[in-house]
Amino acid sequence: MVTMKKQPATPKAIIHQKFGQKARYQVEEVADVAENLCPGLTIPQQTKIKYRCILELPDLTVSSGTFSRKKDAEQSAAQIAIEKLGIEANEQIPTPEGAFDELIARLNILFTDEFLLSTHPLVGHFRVALKREGSLFGLVPISAIAICDSKVNSICKFIDIHAESDPSLLLYLISKAAKASTSLLTSDNGFFIQKQNPTLPEATEVLVSSQVCESKNVQTEAVFIPVGLNEEVKGLKIDICEDGYFLDVIANILKTRDPSHILSSRTVGKASSEMRFYFTAPECLFSSLAKNEVVNATYFEAVVNKRASYISGQTIYGDAILANVGYTWRSSNLLCEDVSLCTYYRMLLGQLPDGYYKLSREAVLTAELPSFYSRANWRGSLPKDLLSFFCRNHRLPQPIFCVQKVVFLEDNDTTSDNTNFLRCEVKILSRSEEPLIVCSFPDTYRKESDAIQNSALKVLNWFKVYFRQLDLLENELYSFGIAPEESFKLYPKAILQEFSFWTSVFAKSLCNYSKLNRILENRVVLSNIEGPDSGVIPSVGSVTSVSYEVRLLREGDDGEGYLLEKNEEFEFEVGSGAVTYQMEVCATQLSVDQSAKFTVVPPPRDVILASTSTDPSYLSDTHLENWRLEYEVKVLHVAAPMEERMETAFFSPPLSKQRVEFAVRHINQSHALSLVDFGCGSGSLLDSLLDHNTCLEKLVGVDISIRALTRAAKVLHQKLSNHCAMRACLKSAVLYDGSITDFDAQLYNFDIGTCIEVIEHMEEEQAQQFGDIALSKFCPKILIVSTPNYEYNPILQRSSLPNKEEDQEEGEKPGPCKFRNHDHKFEWTRGQFEKWANDLASKHGYSVEFSGVGGSGDEPGFASQIAVFKRGLLREGNNGSRGTESLRRPYEILWEWCGNRER
Ligand code: SAH
Ligand code: MG
Repeated sequence: MVTMKKQPATPKAIIHQKFGQKARYQVEEVADVAENLCPGLTIPQQTKIKYRCILELPDLTVSSGTFSRKKDAEQSAAQIAIEKLGIEANEQIPTPEGAFDELIARLNILFTDEFLLSTHPLVGHFRVALKREGSLFGLVPISAIAICDSKVNSICKFIDIHAESDPSLLLYLISKAAKASTSLLTSDNGFFIQKQNPTLPEATEVLVSSQVCESKNVQTEAVFIPVGLNEEVKGLKIDICEDGYFLDVIANILKTRDPSHILSSRTVGKASSEMRFYFTAPECLFSSLAKNEVVNATYFEAVVNKRASYISGQTIYGDAILANVGYTWRSSNLLCEDVSLCTYYRMLLGQLPDGYYKLSREAVLTAELPSFYSRANWRGSLPKDLLSFFCRNHRLPQPIFCVQKVVFLEDNDTTSDNTNFLRCEVKILSRSEEPLIVCSFPDTYRKESDAIQNSALKVLNWFKVYFRQLDLLENELYSFGIAPEESFKLYPKAILQEFSFWTSVFAKSLCNYSKLNRILENRVVLSNIEGPDSGVIPSVGSVTSVSYEVRLLREGDDGEGYLLEKNEEFEFEVGSGAVTYQMEVCATQLSVDQSAKFTVVPPPRDVILASTSTDPSYLSDTHLENWRLEYEVKVLHVAAPMEERMETAFFSPPLSKQRVEFAVRHINQSHALSLVDFGCGSGSLLDSLLDHNTCLEKLVGVDISIRALTRAAKVLHQKLSNHCAMRACLKSAVLYDGSITDFDAQLYNFDIGTCIEVIEHMEEEQAQQFGDIALSKFCPKILIVSTPNYEYNPILQRSSLPNKEEDQEEGEKPGPCKFRNHDHKFEWTRGQFEKWANDLASKHGYSVEFSGVGGSGDEPGFASQIAVFKRGLLREGNNGSRGTESLRRPYEILWEWCGNRER
């Protein structure tokens, strides 16, 4: 027997031995906020940071207590897991020398006659070996041992930790051990092993006769991945005779002399599969390993198969074959499963920051990583998991999340209920645990999970953008970001070091893709619109459910094309960027039960192949420029956005209706003949006005969203072609495409202007600009501006809670730190709004009064606050219609209705 030198094993080492890479440690920083907070600080309280470790194992997740050292937290989590799993605590890890002896012992066992009678997967290889004739009789390739015996694999890790990531090193170690064994023989080149004493004839007989009588030929599909990045990955068929040896066949394809030169990666993909990369290690690699030399870096660059290495996480040399064949414990026959190009491209896509999200939604061609997270509306894998997964794929340590409590100074005591405002810092570290990215976003949340998920998402989105510009240089990286520098600290040198080698795998196709996408984001033309207009439309913030099919068609052909992707029911939040731009445009132009088609230029071949499981042969010889993707989309249902649901659930009549009635009162009181609705959106105010008896003769709407305007045109057209209250006096109605921060003389001097729930959708400077231009240039006699009252949010949000989705699992109330709608750039308190309005009024000679709708108006004010500006007498006649300003007409007419005619 071999005696091993023992040393006490730490809990982490025991877990490592059992689970290897499957054990995931995530260390979180836990801010221990001191008891007596210093009030009035908007910066995070400086507190002692402690660490908590979450250990995820295949069937168990445990969390440690908090410790001041990361190491202690990890060991504690490992210890808890060991106790829960009932692992023998006295298992110990061997020293490298001890492990080498153990490896020899293990090899000796594998080559005993008794072993041949076991069901071990290696037996399949022996059977082939024992059927060989002459000098090849009984020779087993070392690679077969590396493939089949997990014990050999784990022992090798203790001899040299790099054996885990380098199959050639594994082969070298086994060969060395075989040479050292007195009962084994190695072939001249050292990669075949044989028994010193021949196998007993009885054992041979049992083994060979246990095999299926008639040997069939099996064909299996595999994927060929050339080492050169410019060479195309191809599908290929492998023919294996069940009598024959699959390693021989693979060696043949890889043009190698014999199967003992074939190496294989560990399994990739699903846990139960035998899918591996097979490749040939260059001869000189073994000689440098034998001499204990480090492989020359430039040589390494040239011979490493980046694509295969990238996916497997191991070092793979030269051309590689991805195949799912082998002997398993389950059956003594050879097992084969097809590996399609789709499988390969999905694995590649899964390595991208947003790729795994697309796969998790089963919508490669349609889903996009959203730009923000909300518990109720998120679909697919969660941002934190996506980021962890991404880091793991890139061999980086797990991201570190640090949730901190923030204290705001509030002059009036609205936070007296002692609520937590949380923000989350994220750290991404390099393999050597140096920082790559450290970000601390200013946004605050009530719930820890919201803070963590949103921060994780922001980091992922940064990576997404970065992965589309992989050709950036170090100095360019400094200024490259999607967030202000103070909240996003980058370490360009380290980032380039970590990513440049592997990301070259993507550089070509991804950069093309993002260029393409920019071209694509033009107008989307819908065709074949079918179904009646039900009037229920997906608006920003609504969760919309569609069914769709995507087909690849050759331009000019009117055949069926190839079905690439199909979803019977696919939900996404409008406005969050969760789907492609085109899909969103399409959905928001349809109403529930309507369907339409549109076509787009296809994405690169890689993406198409990842999306389809049908035979991709049609892509082999054709240029994609001649192809189009055709989407057919049907809107199934729409759940109104949070803001709207809150407003409708809580107020009767709904707030939107109350706003209309508020406007109607002012229209009638002032006998207004003309009205302009600034930021009319999809025309809800104009539409409702048509149902009221007013004496308005001219109705105008302006918006920058073509989509909303198109919708408004449809709605107004419908109302005006039927009977409506206002039809009698109305002389004209016009919709303009234009920005309300830009003056257009056609809208000068109206009797009344409305701007309902619009300014909060603009940046504060723009809201200021709009106020100035409206009162100094457009000069309506009356201007009505409404916007949410921030102080009212706690009431709204509390009240909307009982109606389902917004989960309450932590029993917390959502905080006022959340705006009512994701698109809101700000929400003002009464004080802020009044200051904005008072300053404007006095600057431009208007008077202003404050009012609102929703609630009684007592503390904390109306739900929707309204300012009514009235033009002072002095201002009359002062106009924007003088001089060149009167010629200024930047707005474009999108739709117009005159009397009974429509243009
Ligand atoms: N007033 C409508 C829509 C409110 S949503 C209603 O009450 O239903 C806000 C609208 O403001 C959106 O349609 C958006 O496109 C529009 N908007 C935002 N910034 C704008 C700008 N600078 N010029 C014109 N419209 C703008
Ligand atoms: Mg709004």
